[in-house]
Amino acid sequence: MSGRVKGWCPGALTPMPSGDGLVLRVRPRSGRLTPAQMLGLADLAERFGDGAVTLTSRANLQLRAVAPADLEAVQADLRRLDLIDTDPAQETRRNILVSPIWTQGDPTMALAAELAARLAELPPLPAKFGFAIDTGPAAILTGASADLRIERSSSGLILRAEGMARGEAVPDARAVTRLIALAHWFAAQPGARRMGLLVGGGARPPLAADAAPLTTPPLRPGPAAPGTCVAAPFGRMATDALRAIAVAPARPTPWRSLVIEAASPPRHPQAITDPDDPRLRVAVCVGKPRCSSASVETMRLARDLAPLVPPGAVLHVAGCAKGCAHPRPADLVLTGRDGHFDLLRGGRPGDPPQRRSLDPADIAALLKDPHAPSL
Ligand code: SF4
Repeated sequence: MSGRVKGWCPGALTPMPSGDGLVLRVRPRSGRLTPAQMLGLADLAERFGDGAVTLTSRANLQLRAVAPADLEAVQADLRRLDLIDTDPAQETRRNILVSPIWTQGDPTMALAAELAARLAELPPLPAKFGFAIDTGPAAILTGASADLRIERSSSGLILRAEGMARGEAVPDARAVTRLIALAHWFAAQPGARRMGLLVGGGARPPLAADAAPLTTPPLRPGPAAPGTCVAAPFGRMATDALRAIAVAPARPTPWRSLVIEAASPPRHPQAITDPDDPRLRVAVCVGKPRCSSASVETMRLARDLAPLVPPGAVLHVAGCAKGCAHPRPADLVLTGRDGHFDLLRGGRPGDPPQRRSLDPADIAALLKDPHAPSL
């Protein structure tokens, strides 16, 4: 997708070239967007992008298809919206996931703000290295990508390294300081890329194992403790849908959704609040022509096939064998290759397919065939 170095992550200051222009990734401060910021992003996506804002698995938002000639104008507007950092180094370090279920009075917002203010104290870290401030009523981000986590146990806050089952009890006022110290320990380990890999390889961070986090399952669309969880169909929120729900602050989640801090935000067909919506059963990447690695169009096929996917099953439509949209196995996988799709049941793109070189019409017919093996 890019000629940059392995592990590099795009930002708003370091956009990524793709098949349809530049991709700019926006990292909301403290995991929260104001209605004015949502409206501003919708305007930018409409004026300079492809008419939608992509929600990512790291709770960020992306504008794509930005022309290089428009980059300065987009960055100026992001600056006006307070959605951009002062320099690329700061942007890379501000890789902070924030619990979308924090409540007034818990320490989540204060910890996120403290960490954001102390980023300069961190050592150089791999671009994908990230932090989770998961200190709502229970940890909800345990399945999302992060290397160091501040969470809640039954007796107070803990600092936990990815890969460890238990964390060290920390007073609220010391949590970020201890986290920074642990980041320095990580940075001193030769060749370390991610904390989970390091711990999985047998390393033991200098951290007490006092307690396990309290946990709660990921949010699904619909009512959520601080308001309403609204998912983007196939991870892309159309600008008019984003405008419609911009009635209260929003908390981006790593499940390609936003928690709107309102009990009943306006409904929009492109803003999913029904957990049984079939579009939620499909993982799909942008495909052709948006990604230069894709030889097939993916979005239209995902839209056409979604109603055929039974409840509980997952269909993954991948533009190529990289399989960006869904890193885990899926019940049915369609992988683009040389302008056609390979089909595989139960696996990942790149695994040996059971059928090769199918066209979209063949696939729809296969899924509708009552005699074909079910998903
Ligand atoms: S999986 Fe999709 S988005 Fe990822 S590189 Fe392939 S075509 Fe591009």
